[in-house]
Amino acid sequence: MPELPEVETVRRGLLNLTGKEILSIEINRPDLRFPFPEDMDSITGRKILDIERRAKYLLIHLENDLTWLVHLGMTGRFGFQLEGKHDHVVVDFVDGTRLVYTDPRRFGVMDLIRPGEVHKLLSDLGPEPLGKSWSGEQLYTSLRNRKVSIKSALLNQHIVVGIGNIYASEILFRSGISPKRLAKNISKKMAHEIYRQTQHVLQIAIEAGGSTLKDGQFKQIDGELGYFPHEFAVYDREGQVCVEPNCRNLVKKLVQSGRSTFFCGTCQR
Ligand SMILES: [Zn+2]
Repeated sequence: MPELPEVETVRRGLLNLTGKEILSIEINRPDLRFPFPEDMDSITGRKILDIERRAKYLLIHLENDLTWLVHLGMTGRFGFQLEGKHDHVVVDFVDGTRLVYTDPRRFGVMDLIRPGEVHKLLSDLGPEPLGKSWSGEQLYTSLRNRKVSIKSALLNQHIVVGIGNIYASEILFRSGISPKRLAKNISKKMAHEIYRQTQHVLQIAIEAGGSTLKDGQFKQIDGELGYFPHEFAVYDREGQVCVEPNCRNLVKKLVQSGRSTFFCGTCQR
């Protein structure tokens, strides 16, 4: 499932559509995760002014205060060419550019945000991990009194947005903190370290174009892979020797709330 670095990679890949005018939209089925809005074709005749990201939502701002909201779900992706039977939305631009949305599992979301509207999917989101309003101090405060594991807390979109299994595993390994430690037992110093590692890991992952896993589902807009898996210290490395130079321990896999976590029992406390 795409996490923040993958969605940010897609956003950057879409930015060269800025200034282009939409000629037509073709929708090949009634719904993705939810039905398409009836007036989805009102994006036609408008230019793309800017593309933002909030959490894992892409916000494509169009002329006359209309915003096209997209969530990639589990397997959604954009490309510039037709791929096959899972191409659900095809957008043609006046200059001949074609944008194709492909989504085999159809957990993606597309909707419109009309002038003055606050979309319900955006109204209750926590802070952006790379935004100025988040800090180690704020993370510490939001973890206090929580009787869930720190891994589960990092996946809670009210605490911080955009982090899933891959990046939570990597952040906690690099912070030296066990994914099993209860959130309420995270000290202020640990919270600051998690904050620092979160910024570091997400920034490196964005520079690498995100993570293409073995399933090959995520790709950059131009078809390139995301190369962050070369940097994985623990994710998907079960049974392999820990990357810490003086550690001979093997990376373990743990299932927490139905989701996989990878960690080193020696380096993470
Ligand atoms: Zn280790």
